[in-house]
Amino acid sequence: MKDDNFLREMNAKHLWHPMGHPGEARENAPRIIKGAEGVEIIDIDGHRAVDAVGGLWCVNLGYSNDAVKQAISDQLWELPYYSAFAGTSNPTAIEASYAVQEFFAEDGMVRSFFTSGGSDSVDTALRLARQYHRLRGEPTRTKFLSLKKGYHGTHFGGASVNGNNRFRINYEPLLPGCYHLPSPYTYRNPFDTIDPEMLARKIAAAAVDEIEFQDPSTIAAFIMEPIQGAGGVIVPDASFMKLMREVCDKYGILMISDEVITGFGRTGDWSGARHWGVKPDMMTCAKGITSGYFPVGAVMIGETVADVFENSGPEGAIWHGYTYSAHPVGAAAVVACLSETLRLDTKTNAAARGQQLYDGVCDLAAKHDIIGDVRGGHGLMTGIEIVSDRDAKTPMDAATMKRIHQTAYESGAMVRLGGHNILMSPPLTITEAEVNQIITALDKGFAAA
Ligand code: PMP
Repeated sequence: MKDDNFLREMNAKHLWHPMGHPGEARENAPRIIKGAEGVEIIDIDGHRAVDAVGGLWCVNLGYSNDAVKQAISDQLWELPYYSAFAGTSNPTAIEASYAVQEFFAEDGMVRSFFTSGGSDSVDTALRLARQYHRLRGEPTRTKFLSLKKGYHGTHFGGASVNGNNRFRINYEPLLPGCYHLPSPYTYRNPFDTIDPEMLARKIAAAAVDEIEFQDPSTIAAFIMEPIQGAGGVIVPDASFMKLMREVCDKYGILMISDEVITGFGRTGDWSGARHWGVKPDMMTCAKGITSGYFPVGAVMIGETVADVFENSGPEGAIWHGYTYSAHPVGAAAVVACLSETLRLDTKTNAAARGQQLYDGVCDLAAKHDIIGDVRGGHGLMTGIEIVSDRDAKTPMDAATMKRIHQTAYESGAMVRLGGHNILMSPPLTITEAEVNQIITALDKGFAAA
């Protein structure tokens, strides 16, 4: 094993990190995580912390699931790779496609298209949406609608429907024909309403207005996260996704539910759309599909879309796919992970522990004035918005956020910063005592602000 300082030096010299400045590792060495156990991560100094981020919203089963590890290892020896481009398949991919469909059968999903991650899944779904309309004889339907504050990955398609301009501005021009509606974000919104139900109605009305303005016959799909994750854990009113479904139905627009975070139990249900009582036309998945143990994503396809493709002529061929689509090792991870997810009934624990985490953070809000807004209460996704002035809702400065983060980490919990928000999505297997450890660590972090 290399000496720790040598590792830090090599990191600064050679490794560019996603979502950060290339020079940052020189000024500010990253924490180097060398191991993990249960829901805890262990850094190279031997410090342990409960991973309140779940890797990156993905390690749903925690870090010690032997069944998934064994399945990956076994598959490596059986068949480490073969392509699934039309003409060949592999037994594990077939099993995985069935397993994931069974998982989302209640959401109306009947087919699976595998990818290498969430951004791939989003771009795949956007392309399929355009092709679907072409196949139906409406090739003018090429535009996309999405929500501000939404996060849909970093490929050009996903970035174009992303609703946070940090991920867009350096990479413009993006895809033309992408329009953004306000986020169901009660704490700050252009309608100046704090009533979530009213806000839901206003956004649905804004959607109708935009669609009419664009002309409905030009819009292919609307994509949304059932709960916006990276945008700050923004939980819409229970009516919101249903209202948007009605708008999509009225204008013949496909609804894509981006379930990259919310799929597989995180919201306390097996999908975020199901949590809100909605059946989308397609679902984009990744993360929890393998608990992060192997990079896999999937687009789940509902009956309406599947029928059009499967009953089409040669123009229905999908000239799109990835070298690692339906990768056998990834597929083995999917089969084992979904089986473990069901066996452990992780959604039930997510609901109970999510409520505990949300309630605990609400209690902290009574104690610390810097907490402007607490969002969550629907499974294990919790967001805390930190402000320097509660009345003026002034976003907290970066140095203070960093201090909160560092103190929480030293006190036993790794949380994630998204600007002046603290984002949490711990493994769905977390215990009551471990949730308490997160709350105590945050308490210390806020005291150090
Ligand atoms: N969609 C959503 C809702 C996400 O949260 C993410 C990743 N955080 C993505 C898409 C992109 O996934 P990936 O990073 O695996 O490409």
